[in-house]
Amino acid sequence: MSETTYDLPDGRLFVGGKWETGSGAEIVSTFSHDGSENRRLSGASVEDGLRAIARAKAAQSDPAWLDLLPHQRARYLARIADGIEANVDRISYIQTRDTGKTRTETTALAMSAAGTFRYFAAVLETADEDLTARRGDCLTLSVHEPIGLVGAITPWNSPIASDAQKVAPALAAGNAVLLKPSSWSPLVSLELARIIEEAGLPEGLFSVLPGSGREIGNLLVEHPDIGRISFTGGTETGRRIGEQAGRKLMPLSLELGGKSPTIVFSDADMDQAIAGVLFGIFSSSGQSCIAGSRLFVAREIYDTFVARLVEATEKLVVGSPFEAATQVAPLVTFEHREAVEAYIALAREEGGRVLTGGERPEGDAYAQGAYLKPTIIEGLTNDSRTCREEIFGPVLVVLPFEDEADVIAQSNDNDYGLACGIWTKDFARAWRLARAIDAGTVWINTYKQFSISTPFGGDGASGIGREKGRQGMRVYQRQKAIYHGLGDGPLPWARLS
Ligand code: NAD
Repeated sequence: MSETTYDLPDGRLFVGGKWETGSGAEIVSTFSHDGSENRRLSGASVEDGLRAIARAKAAQSDPAWLDLLPHQRARYLARIADGIEANVDRISYIQTRDTGKTRTETTALAMSAAGTFRYFAAVLETADEDLTARRGDCLTLSVHEPIGLVGAITPWNSPIASDAQKVAPALAAGNAVLLKPSSWSPLVSLELARIIEEAGLPEGLFSVLPGSGREIGNLLVEHPDIGRISFTGGTETGRRIGEQAGRKLMPLSLELGGKSPTIVFSDADMDQAIAGVLFGIFSSSGQSCIAGSRLFVAREIYDTFVARLVEATEKLVVGSPFEAATQVAPLVTFEHREAVEAYIALAREEGGRVLTGGERPEGDAYAQGAYLKPTIIEGLTNDSRTCREEIFGPVLVVLPFEDEADVIAQSNDNDYGLACGIWTKDFARAWRLARAIDAGTVWINTYKQFSISTPFGGDGASGIGREKGRQGMRVYQRQKAIYHGLGDGPLPWARLS
């Protein structure tokens, strides 16, 4: 793995295309491997946000942007994709410092961000308008127009990828975008701003405004000039934003949390299932919305499977995100580790037995970092809080199931509906379950695989709407119907003749 180090962004904000020192509350980005400070910066204040909105409005309505033809707008997205690709190692380094995630993972996230911009350049170039079926003496068309200003609010766990999933389709659709990243991971989004500026996007169309959710996030949601919010984050925050958007009658998408079931049947390939379960929950140290955090194992193989799973978990390499061998890196912050530890304590109170992990790893290598051992807990019921709530850490709960009906009922007995994993060699059963489980994404004999062409999102407490795919650009546009009259004479109702 690369030993190269890079300069971190200098901490200035990207306010409507200008690099400015923020005038809001201080933000401290830290490296959770050793607690060292990455950068101390002044976040955006409401005044900074208002300036960004005014510049975005002017830039978005300027014919230099608004009148661009699709293939001309697509060129900017392709140039941004090139810029990300040329800077993958730098972006990966910054994001690893910002979030504590392994270099392997942040490299993949940076590559996926480049792919997202390239994909939406292609979507834009190949999108057609519709000439709809005539029902009278008119030519009837359905056309798409930009919304105007889009507010993108993102969490800390995969910033460059979640930023790209909003910024690329929203720009492709002809909007200006104001991005508010999490205060725990402000740096990589500022690096994206540098790349977008270098790609020559007209000034004002893009802003990066790290700052408090209650101030800057709230400003974007409430401001009358913002026509759509695309939010990824926790369910409670999403609910609040949804209520505000409802009052404003503003469309929005909410990508929220999860408590995704993984189901292992007795005919599954054991090695594949164990590897898939481990990857599903312990990669990203479990800090992933789609983490397979509730494991259901068929009763007849429960003891054998769980014993092998525990053995394999104890072999996972916990360590520095800069070490190539590391599989489980530290959590994003010390504060977040405490929140996860509180859930392990709750699981014990609820009668759970910790089969492995449940504590911080010992040794000098871990002493300064926000490390936590991969943890497996059994003995809980599906209605316990530990099984119902999102923990967002390396904590797996394991439960047995009796048959197909039982596992469908248990899987669906949860407020979330984000993802599901099914491990079986029985094709027909896999299909039945895939259709019966309430989840936006189902993986069969695999887990955590993604394609930008495939729409992604959750149901229930996991959110509203879908990102990615060809329709991913259309949600950032307004549809307009145009009826062009073809008749020679006046409309008959007026009886002019
Ligand atoms: P969070 O809800 O605390 O914060 C997300 C973003 O919202 C941050 O930028 C935050 O500053 C902002 N925010 C907070 N309060 C706000 C308010 N009142 N108004 C406007 N904005 C506000 O979430 P987090 O802890 O940063 O991220 C973890 C959560 O994100 C987990 O629940 C995880 O499952 C979820 N997530 C979901 C997906 C998905 O695609 N479904 C992907 C990644 C993460």
